[in-house]
Amino acid sequence: MSISDIEVLDTDDRGRGVFATHAIGAGTTIVRGIPAACVPKDDRLRTHCSVCLAPAADRPLCSGCGHVVLCARCAKSDGARLIHDDECASLRSLFAVPAKERPADTCSLRLLLRLLLWRWRCSRPELPQYVEDEWWGDGDACGDELDDVMALCEPPEGLADGGVDCDAAFWDMAAQARYHLPAHARLSRGLAAELMARVYANGLCLYREDGGDGGDGGGGGGRGGGGVRREVGWGVSASVAMFNHRCAPNADWSIDADGCIVVRSVRPVRRGEELCLCYVDNALPRRERQARLREHFGFECQCEVCRAEEEEETVGTAGRASGKHARSEAAAPAPAKRHASSAPRARKKTK
Ligand SMILES: [Zn+2]
Ligand SMILES: [Zn+2]
Ligand SMILES: [Zn+2]
Repeated sequence: MSISDIEVLDTDDRGRGVFATHAIGAGTTIVRGIPAACVPKDDRLRTHCSVCLAPAADRPLCSGCGHVVLCARCAKSDGARLIHDDECASLRSLFAVPAKERPADTCSLRLLLRLLLWRWRCSRPELPQYVEDEWWGDGDACGDELDDVMALCEPPEGLADGGVDCDAAFWDMAAQARYHLPAHARLSRGLAAELMARVYANGLCLYREDGGDGGDGGGGGGRGGGGVRREVGWGVSASVAMFNHRCAPNADWSIDADGCIVVRSVRPVRRGEELCLCYVDNALPRRERQARLREHFGFECQCEVCRAEEEEETVGTAGRASGKHARSEAAAPAPAKRHASSAPRARKKTK
């Protein structure tokens, strides 16, 4: 756990970013965050633990909602059970709706329900909480606080993902959440829509590698390294959402055996270098990557790789063969970043 090796600074053009305060070796854990909320994808509901997303196909379905499983470990933990107990009635209500009348993919709605319930529980500190001083996982991890999640950036206005008006979709999702939630956990539709917008802009696809979690050893690997990475769920962690995007990232994330979202370096990182994740599949061609970043996150990627590839395409049309050179330069360590003078924002709560 090397959370002392990073600091959060303002960048000139991309809001806050995470920077290395020391040189970091490849494959080092940079942040290990207990997600504010994470849920299995629809097709993993019956095979992966609803709380930590561990494989749990051998576990019985919840007798309350009949739609999810908890792994043996989470089933024994008060905090983990509470997470599902809170949402169980809402899920029963959601899945009672005829299939063609509920969202084709319930993942986002379930994530919103989870966050709204978490929000309600956080507002009642006299009640047991999901993550107490003692939690069910091993080792240190950062826990999100409600303010951290509400402070996440919103997507820019007027976003249209795949032609769908996102604002309208967030409002619709908020209305559905209201319908399924118990009265005490409901939030005004506007606030719930704002929360959904933040989830949309900061949520992470969560992957598990087949064959277990490899721990900290080895040389990073990242996307495509080691075993087969399978998408198992979707989650939000304020500690992980601080990382900016770059198409040739120096860090990657995955979900570990305790259900924590772990960010690890995928190559050696120099002191002062910004630590970045690739929000989209970096194997995609530039135009497609950029289209996804624009549609989903509302920004035009100007990273080294994008600039080099753009140049390469321009040069390529002129019949020059410098493409290879441009690409290998792009993969080299990034130039020194501009450090803003403002103070880093501490948001590291370790347990
Ligand atoms: Zn579990
Ligand atoms: Zn249930
Ligand atoms: Zn880029």
